[in-house]
Amino acid sequence: MSFMRKPFVAGNWKMNTNSNTSVELVEAIASRTPEAARKSVHIAVCPPFVYLQGVINALNKSGIAVGAQDIYFERDGAFTGEISPAMLKDIGCTYVLCGHSERRHVIGEMDELINKKIAAAIIGGLLPIFCVGELIEQRKASKTEEVVTQQVKKGLAGLSAGKVSAVTLAYEPVWAIGTGLTATPQQAQEVHALIRKLLGEMYDDKLAEEIRILYGGSVKPNNAAELMSQQDIDGLLVGGASLNADDFVAIIEAAT
Ligand code: PEP
Repeated sequence: MSFMRKPFVAGNWKMNTNSNTSVELVEAIASRTPEAARKSVHIAVCPPFVYLQGVINALNKSGIAVGAQDIYFERDGAFTGEISPAMLKDIGCTYVLCGHSERRHVIGEMDELINKKIAAAIIGGLLPIFCVGELIEQRKASKTEEVVTQQVKKGLAGLSAGKVSAVTLAYEPVWAIGTGLTATPQQAQEVHALIRKLLGEMYDDKLAEEIRILYGGSVKPNNAAELMSQQDIDGLLVGGASLNADDFVAIIEAAT
């Protein structure tokens, strides 16, 4: 599946909202997003698991897609507390975040597990948003290229070009997530170009040209347009600012 790099803005709500505010938030986003922006930008929100169904029902026919923040790689069975791709698909999810930095660095997920989750998501008919990014110590030690290259290679290990075409990459420098520090558009562009080149080497030029690579890390209405103006930035993964309907809609508009 290829989207030919139509701009994509996704909101990661993390562990926020409740049964009322999750629905209020998407209703506000849906009603305030202009028709033109809805046509020219793919939009998704990723609420906590327990609010997915309510948000999906509220977004009915709005054209705004819904993603989960995590997944387990098995189809069903004795995996207490886990959620399978089939379950997410069943309730109408389109996307799933895989390898978000908080799962890597707070929960302790490793590349091998992330790889299994990406593969399972694709096989289960979901579109993974595969997050990579370096820690501040790694950037300071000039290891950004090495770290991101390893994360991409390990995360996509064993997946054919056909399968990887379902993936959206997200470059999220860990030092920029939730900190108010944003990578400069040039810093972000440099890593996006590196990822695209790597995908060309791992697969082929066509895949590298068509795959979408989002930037994430303290994206706000006042920096979204400049980030989007970079050649290899195809969209934005938004955390904190996606919890405010006006800010999230302003970011969507900046991506048109
Ligand atoms: C995120 O959660 O992926 C993220 C980028 O968060 P924030 O926008 O709050 O930095």
